[in-house]
Amino acid sequence: MLPCSWMKTLLQALKEHTAESDLSEPIDGYRVRCLACGLRCPIPAGFSGVCKVRFNRGGKLYVPQGYVSSR
Ligand code: SF4
Repeated sequence: MLPCSWMKTLLQALKEHTAESDLSEPIDGYRVRCLACGLRCPIPAGFSGVCKVRFNRGGKLYVPQGYVSSR
């Protein structure tokens, strides 16, 4: 069954449940470093870290908020 055009993708839905993170530091005006785990990803604007759930939007790090998941 094909998804309806009004249905959000999981990625779109997850990106709406985010908040700015305190666990980050600016590298320059374009990249931020995530400090949430040992990988300490340097993340350019418009990209996500290795985990794919923390991402740089406009030079600020955004992280999941308001939901619980498991695999
Ligand atoms: S973006 Fe994800 S993988 Fe990278 S340091 Fe942060 S928590 Fe770790």
